[in-house]
Amino acid sequence: MGVISHLIKIGFPNNCITCNDSLLRNEKFICSNCFFYIPKGESIISNKTEISSLLGNQQSLIGGGHLFNFDKDGKTQQLLHELKYNSNLQLGTFLGELIGAEFKSQLQEVDYVIPVPLHKKKLYERGYNQSEILSNGINNVIEKKILTNNLVRIRYTETQTKKNKLERLENIKNAFEVNNPKELEGKTILLIDDVITTGSTLVECIYGLKSVKEIKLIVLVLAKAVY
Ligand SMILES: [Zn+2]
Repeated sequence: MGVISHLIKIGFPNNCITCNDSLLRNEKFICSNCFFYIPKGESIISNKTEISSLLGNQQSLIGGGHLFNFDKDGKTQQLLHELKYNSNLQLGTFLGELIGAEFKSQLQEVDYVIPVPLHKKKLYERGYNQSEILSNGINNVIEKKILTNNLVRIRYTETQTKKNKLERLENIKNAFEVNNPKELEGKTILLIDDVITTGSTLVECIYGLKSVKEIKLIVLVLAKAVY
């Protein structure tokens, strides 16, 4: 790359996050070529999707879906990394908008959107909740209310990445609690997380909501990792 084009790139950081090629005027964050090759998830919300089966037989669950799968080229992981560790909040909002657009027609019954909460210590360390950023993007499309103070994470847990399924479940046990069950009674809640691996975090979230009468849940995640 020549000096001039390098300077131009610095002046206009309009490059694809996953391949670094210049973006065309109608492209945002990811070029069409990369987008084409990111493996897509299941865009039907039902109790027969992969996400639903990871979450097990939950009475309150209407169904789950996901936008992307992890891929061997690591494009999905790069997007998640940008969102989770690189504070790329604009990308997060954009990815949320993609989720919203993909599932919009199936989200009409939703009353509230709840991002999977972080423990306040984790929130302080990171400065933001990546699932809340996704929820903001989703809400740009479906225009529902986001609740961030009702379902809360009461236990600070170590990272799950090096743990097996059983250890993950044990690690996150009783991590979530509902402050005001009345607010959620009889409501349809859209629960949002950035990534699902074994499903233990979301299972525990659903467990945390079990005191809420007649709650109905839809679970959407940005990406499903291979476990
Ligand atoms: Zn690209």
